[in-house]
Amino acid sequence: MKIVHATGELFPYVKTGGLADAAGSIVETLAEYGHHVAVFLPGYRTVLEHPDASAATSVMSIGVELGDEFLSGEILAIKPRPNLTVYLVRRDEYFDRRHPYGRPGRDYDDNAQRFVFFGKAVVESVIRLGLKPDVVHCHDWQAALIPLFLRIEERRRALAVAGKTVLTIHNLAFQGIFPRKTFALTGLPDELLGMDGLEYYGQINMLKGGILFADRLTTVSHTYAREILTPEFGCGLEGVLQLRSDDLVSVLNGINPHVWNPATDRHLPENYTAADRAGKKACRRALLRECGFGEDFAGPILGMICRFTEQKGIHLLPGTGDFFQGDRARLVVLGSGAPEYERVVREWAAERPEAVHVAFGLDEVRSHLIEAGCDFFLMPSIFEPCGLNQMYSQRYGTVPVVSRVGGLADTVTDVDAEPGQGTGIHFEPDDVDALRGALERAETLYRDRKTLNTVISRCMKKDFSWRTAVRAYESLYREII
Ligand code: ADP
Repeated sequence: MKIVHATGELFPYVKTGGLADAAGSIVETLAEYGHHVAVFLPGYRTVLEHPDASAATSVMSIGVELGDEFLSGEILAIKPRPNLTVYLVRRDEYFDRRHPYGRPGRDYDDNAQRFVFFGKAVVESVIRLGLKPDVVHCHDWQAALIPLFLRIEERRRALAVAGKTVLTIHNLAFQGIFPRKTFALTGLPDELLGMDGLEYYGQINMLKGGILFADRLTTVSHTYAREILTPEFGCGLEGVLQLRSDDLVSVLNGINPHVWNPATDRHLPENYTAADRAGKKACRRALLRECGFGEDFAGPILGMICRFTEQKGIHLLPGTGDFFQGDRARLVVLGSGAPEYERVVREWAAERPEAVHVAFGLDEVRSHLIEAGCDFFLMPSIFEPCGLNQMYSQRYGTVPVVSRVGGLADTVTDVDAEPGQGTGIHFEPDDVDALRGALERAETLYRDRKTLNTVISRCMKKDFSWRTAVRAYESLYREII
């Protein structure tokens, strides 16, 4: 099949969260399966600075109508592997910036312009490059208007540009909501501005447009696919999603088995396998050392790696009482986010330096050491479309302690509920008492070495590879084209 993907993030070029990992693995695996895959990505500064970009070739200049302006851009191409071309949509005024969307906690004021430009540039390029894809697969709000731009251009030019469109919702909390006046940038017909179009409480909502007009919708875990149809998790779009529920399917994310493999991980001081876990002890010592904790600490070490936002349940940490105090346990946190959440973490950690270590910022290398060096991985998310860290941690023999939502519920089996299959600990979301109870259960499990070893072996043997997911996307494409 000829498949075009459009995404605002793509590992290894640019990543702020799970979207990058997912998009990167999907396109790579589809290419490996022999499909012809083109993926479009904004030409952000970090992407142009990536070593692969030094071999990028300039493919063509493009012109895009944005409101009453006509803006130019350039399309560059990178060919990282057979069957896969990454097209970069370059317009330095929009994308030559430090961050893809803005500083943490404050989005760029011109994000509507930037991503309408991106979407229209993708459609223009698909036409001019003669790609004629069977499927155009868009990810999240950044690419959500592409199905509409595509059909409008087909109508305008009386031309068949692409077969079917798919929109994947990686996180419904990000919708691309902008002032109503920005609708004019899209060039879409006025009838698409109403309630049955992009209109959203007096503003416009790009994700809503994609949900209404893509041929198929997917999301990243089975539980999340059910949750988003409810007011509690639907982020205001539950009604629109209910309208399209017959076209909504779930495909559980996988993990990149080459990047996340404790047997070969080059970021670890020592490697290890399920059969021989000696290297995990070395990772534990290295992590304790790096955090300034005594290397001979014998209790449980917990890790957290996340964006500091409400979603991740950061605000629950201060409710964990004396669990992270004195010599009971250690917590290693890595993350960054909005200043108010960073402050909560910083202040709470400062009161218990003997037990809690926090590193602020994005640090891929350290994230691998945390996954490997900890005994438990903590994810107290309020909602979690899929979540990746709980899968990484199982692969690294680090038992996940997770709230029972979305993909966390689908990928972690509770050890007490199902003793013969358990790989982690579940607790009720957004509930401090439940979190405390879960931490105590982790402590009890940690002391029961025999059960713990069984759980760790089970975790490490689970298959989280992308194969199953990508086969599911393939079947979906086949079904619709
Ligand atoms: P989300 O997409 O909601 O941020 P996921 O768990 O799906 O959450 O994916 C987050 C990804 O980003 C994981 O690969 C995680 O390890 C990574 N990540 C998050 N914060 C950091 C950080 N501060 N440093 C390194 N990697 C991080």
